[in-house]
Amino acid sequence: MSLKAWDFIQKTLYHAALQASGKLCLRRTHIPMIRSTSWTSVQFRSTHGTNSGSSSFSIRSHTCGELRSTHVGEVVTLCGWVQYQRHGMFVILRDYSGLTQVLIPEDESRIKLKKTFCELPLESVVKVKGKVKRRPAGQENKEMPTGEIEVCAETAEVLNKSKKLPFEIKDFTKKAESLRMQYRYLDLRSSQMQYNLRLRSQIVMKIREYLTNIHGFVDVETPTLFKRTPGGAKEFLVPSREPGRFYCLPQSPQQFKQLLMVAGIDRYFQVARCYRDEGSKPDRQPEFTQVDIEMSFVNQAGIQALIEGLIQHFWPNELRSISTPFPIMTYEEAMSVFGVDKPDVRFGMQLVNISEVFSSIEVEFLRDIVHRPGGCVQAIRVPGGTRHLKNKDLESLKHLAKIHFNQTVNVVVLKDDGTWRSSIAKLLPDSAKQHLLQLTAAKPGDVLILASGLLQDVRSLLGKLRLQCVQLLEDKGMIVRDPSDFHFLWVVDFPLFLPKKEYPAELESAHHPFTAAHPEDLPLLLKEPHKVRSQHFDLVVNGCEVGGGSIRIHDASVQKFVLEKILKEDSSLLSHLLEALDSGAPPHGGIALGLDRLLSIIVGASSIRDVIAFPKSFRGHDLMSGAPDFISEDELRPYHVCVKWPVQEGKEKQELDLTKNSALDS
Ligand code: ASP
Repeated sequence: MSLKAWDFIQKTLYHAALQASGKLCLRRTHIPMIRSTSWTSVQFRSTHGTNSGSSSFSIRSHTCGELRSTHVGEVVTLCGWVQYQRHGMFVILRDYSGLTQVLIPEDESRIKLKKTFCELPLESVVKVKGKVKRRPAGQENKEMPTGEIEVCAETAEVLNKSKKLPFEIKDFTKKAESLRMQYRYLDLRSSQMQYNLRLRSQIVMKIREYLTNIHGFVDVETPTLFKRTPGGAKEFLVPSREPGRFYCLPQSPQQFKQLLMVAGIDRYFQVARCYRDEGSKPDRQPEFTQVDIEMSFVNQAGIQALIEGLIQHFWPNELRSISTPFPIMTYEEAMSVFGVDKPDVRFGMQLVNISEVFSSIEVEFLRDIVHRPGGCVQAIRVPGGTRHLKNKDLESLKHLAKIHFNQTVNVVVLKDDGTWRSSIAKLLPDSAKQHLLQLTAAKPGDVLILASGLLQDVRSLLGKLRLQCVQLLEDKGMIVRDPSDFHFLWVVDFPLFLPKKEYPAELESAHHPFTAAHPEDLPLLLKEPHKVRSQHFDLVVNGCEVGGGSIRIHDASVQKFVLEKILKEDSSLLSHLLEALDSGAPPHGGIALGLDRLLSIIVGASSIRDVIAFPKSFRGHDLMSGAPDFISEDELRPYHVCVKWPVQEGKEKQELDLTKNSALDS
């Protein structure tokens, strides 16, 4: 675990210790056992523990990371897991807060104690009572926050003996992720996972505090058994006992939060579980958590300011501070400069339009592209790229362009002596070369990557290659992006509709069908809906989308028009919402923050799985319990559902049944 993480845990604990008296105390609490006015029926219970803090109501007096030289002389009781044993003399006890060295004294009376510990497997759980002593001079451990002291054991009790575990609970032990997920309860013992989950809890607490106590929001739980929503992500189905009828797990509480606005709950929030059956997508989870927010009588700027304040409120002190307001960039600007709608603005390598270089030269294929409607040639410049990007790297970039975008890119290596290495070098006159260098501001030592084709294809490709280049450079040790820097920004003015991937002549919502049109583009809604911008906005940090929201349509006739005439959806599926919008719906808007993604960025985790206690594997499996599981025909009968087995799978069902738990599919 990083020092920062330990520091955080120690500070949290110190804070808790300050609140508590730090000592065992006896409390008398009365618990009425039966409803009666007679005192004889009232039992009293004495409890060990302090009034507050990390050891209140517990059989321990302190946590394992808490003791310092100020505790010397105190008799304490610690509970924890055996992390190490050394020389038959020392046992290191661990809990979430840290480690404490327990000394087994060398006197006769403690022979039993020594035997207990020596035979005890690591990761067994013990309770130790003893006196805090200062470690002998020279034996202090400066790396350990408790390193000045040790606890001289007087009694010890084995609370649970551990069997041999599939992996060691040591920060330096590398484990395959599938194994970590199969034994998640062990993986969560690691200091990093403890840190991640505890930070998550603190941040959620601050979110609730900010929204409820400071801004008057109401936390409302909404159903997770719901019905299909037209458009948007694929939903999970839940069979019901009525033939042919299914619930859906909501992809978000979108409809409910809008209905709550109609209901007069004018400021709603929920830490909401959402479900999307999106198959195997990297770093997505079939169930995930959103901080879901909706407000009445608000505009985009109001929602954005609320979120900026919220993020500042929960932003961990240990991280570099963030300043507000966050910059705002239009979708068009993001796409034209960075090639993506979630730009990582921590580095340059921006897209440059170089079409004019090729409009009148002899390189036929490039000239033709430039003259085709919507055609262009663009480039990105990798400063100092020749020093770091080897031929094999440049080939990998070309390969990526071919495989994922079916496009060919041209690479220009600008050698230190000013000469060019490129397949297009000999095709370009000197004047064109100079023009290209001038437009891209390229210098000897740089690498240029050129792509040509339709504007949106070129942008997507170069947007991807830009990120790939920076990854290659960083893999070679260059620091291009500062990991401790957090660049939040708003992306606004998205298109309201996009052509459907399979049928480009038809339109689908760019986000969801409840998003309102940009007021300036309302006249286009009837005749040229594809040109309409929306009142949707995304929150982006360091190239990741961590939130999205919008001002909603609050007029039933506009909503009906969008559903029926533009999206060609069956509006009867949303008759409840349409009716509600016709019943005095206030203007409203909201946002949802992706809590898992935001947290993974804050803790620097490479996957959102690292901030979720029990995540699913890449294929949506719970590798610990084996979910999803097979259901027998008998159990399916009440739901009027029968499984039609694909031929191959049907044959193999029995085998699958046996091996499902060991599916290595993370
Ligand atoms: N419900 C939307 C989503 O899940 C966010 C929003 O528009 O508030 O993406």
